[in-house]
Amino acid sequence: MAGLAPMIDRFGRRITYLRVSVTDRCDFRCVYCMAEDMTFLPRQSVLSLEELDRLASAFVARGVRKLRLTGGEPLVRRNIMSLISSLARHLGNGLDELTLTTNASQLHRYADALADCGIARINISLDTLDPAKFRAITRIGDFAQVMRGIDAADRAGLKIKINTVALRDINADEIADLIAWAHGRGFDLSLIETMPMGEIDTDRTDQYLPLSLVRARLSQRFTLEETDYRTGGPSRYVSVRETGGRLGFITPMTHNFCESCNRVRVTCTGTLYMCLGQDDAADLRAPLRASADDDLLHAAIDAAIARKPKGHDFIIDRDQKPAVARHMSATGG
Ligand code: SAM
Ligand code: SF4
Repeated sequence: MAGLAPMIDRFGRRITYLRVSVTDRCDFRCVYCMAEDMTFLPRQSVLSLEELDRLASAFVARGVRKLRLTGGEPLVRRNIMSLISSLARHLGNGLDELTLTTNASQLHRYADALADCGIARINISLDTLDPAKFRAITRIGDFAQVMRGIDAADRAGLKIKINTVALRDINADEIADLIAWAHGRGFDLSLIETMPMGEIDTDRTDQYLPLSLVRARLSQRFTLEETDYRTGGPSRYVSVRETGGRLGFITPMTHNFCESCNRVRVTCTGTLYMCLGQDDAADLRAPLRASADDDLLHAAIDAAIARKPKGHDFIIDRDQKPAVARHMSATGG
């Protein structure tokens, strides 16, 4: 399939980064992400591993150089390693990086296999180092198991980045300690603002903590030095002089990162979202299932990329419904 046209949208942005949510299911129920009694998709509406492979490979043929698997929790999908090892065939063959975002609950089982497949870096979501607080945030997660997973990934040689959602009343006072811990272990850490995605059980205005405020507070403990380090994502990085580590800020709410957006997202049902913060989407499952060759699929991808919007409309406001109805676990962040 080499030689297919690259994906370039109306604003001249080249799409080189695809995030694929391989399942909407998860073994945690993080308070900012899901309702406690989430209903998950019926299995028949979810793409098979073979279909996910075909879909992601079609995007690689169109110029995607970085592929991130996410979820839900990607490592709870049954036989996930067969998909990962199959997609790894594209590494060095169009694809520069295959990676994943995980809550680390299953990493103790998979870390070595991931490294063996050629995965070099992973993102791990972790919002606290306090086991009781961890249980409160994830509702069911086991902190010790997550730590075992992180240790296994580290031992396997995977480069780890920690992602931490800044939550006003939950971990605001712990962020500096999380940074010190992550940097002490040689991990980068990025802070994320909560985004208004999907109905949850609480009001997000209660949890929203602008990173501008976090940064001002961190500056009292650390010397934050600007860097031009980028990983192809929306994180803006500083280096922390006292720890020698890197700290990223992902600020969808206070800083608009849309102008350099190079990414699209596919859900586990084959729905393509051209923007994390907009509801417009394209169904790729129907063209995928309609024919064994990929012509219809590529036509649907072209039509969708031509509609990629200029930017998102996130506003966190007490009186407003979430900007998008779907949960982050549907598109995987
Ligand atoms: N289960 C995996 C994990 O937690 O890493 C992958 C999927 S999870 C949806 C991806 C990331 O989205 C996590 O870092 C999580 O903290 C973040 N996230 C979930 N809901 C969010 C929200 N409403 N606003 C900001 N980040 C959110
Ligand atoms: Fe699961 Fe990740 Fe959402 Fe937490 S943030 S509930 S781990 S999908």
